[in-house]
Amino acid sequence: MELQRIMVIMAHPDDAELGCGGTIANWVKEGREVQYVICTNGDKGTKDMELSPHRLAQVREEEQLKAAKALGVKHVTFLRHRDGELEVSLAFRSELALLIRQHKPHIIATHDPWRPYLLHPDHRAVGFTASDAVIAARDHLFLPAQTGAGFDPHSPREIHYTYPDNPDLFVDITGTLDKKLQALALHESQLAIHPNWREVIIDRARECGEKGNMEYAEIFKRVVL
Ligand SMILES: [Zn+2]
Repeated sequence: MELQRIMVIMAHPDDAELGCGGTIANWVKEGREVQYVICTNGDKGTKDMELSPHRLAQVREEEQLKAAKALGVKHVTFLRHRDGELEVSLAFRSELALLIRQHKPHIIATHDPWRPYLLHPDHRAVGFTASDAVIAARDHLFLPAQTGAGFDPHSPREIHYTYPDNPDLFVDITGTLDKKLQALALHESQLAIHPNWREVIIDRARECGEKGNMEYAEIFKRVVL
């Protein structure tokens, strides 16, 4: 199949389901292989004063594995950087480039770092660094220690930036919105922070759908390489 392997690179446990859970369910239904790379451990994501960051990170990893399984995602890699402290760096770029060279995805889905007023620093850092890593993974003179170790250059064919300001790809998730909601509900530690999350997700999917002439949609900016 064309564009068989998809790598979803996100900052926190739950970002994949929020940004593209319905699309992931579509991809799996079509027989594509989806894997996640979750860059931080999400250990700042609580208002519970009793919960330690260490325990929260464990809980969120378990939740992410359950949600990934519910969507049919094949593999989850946790990079376990500290939540809120990601920076665009050569070390982080090389870490993502190695994963791209190793798993050879055809499509990368990630945060859109160019979305105006995208406040979360981790979302910006992941979006920029995943983009930079695509270039580094592609050209053989980049990161020669990796090619020397047998990880050949690889170029994904497309990048799909989630929830952009200027979408050009509308994915109909009318048939998989339920799956997206089911997967999101598995991130139990996050639900108390956003009590009306279900309505927010449904409203957003409806708004995105209106722009694309569908009932419910997720939106992307697609860059073809
Ligand atoms: Zn996030």
